[in-house]
Amino acid sequence: MSLVPCRACGHQVDTSALACPRCGATDPGKKISRQQRNARNFVIQTIFWLSLLGFGGWYITTTVIPLVKQYIVKPEQAPGARP
Ligand SMILES: [Zn+2]
Repeated sequence: MSLVPCRACGHQVDTSALACPRCGATDPGKKISRQQRNARNFVIQTIFWLSLLGFGGWYITTTVIPLVKQYIVKPEQAPGARP
């Protein structure tokens, strides 16, 4: 529970209040919650892109590099392979 100034009259109202008890404005803490929502969206997008980058890096490390190593190492293993 925290108090924020009403966007209409500046009266201190609770963030969860549906209407300002002084002037009756609806969602007196809406401006704050919208900012919080924007910040949350920004964090979610950042995490999404970071995880995408992380997955891409993980995919390259676990799939592409072993394939490349296999391709490079294969000719060296050929002489050692005896029937
Ligand atoms: Zn108010």
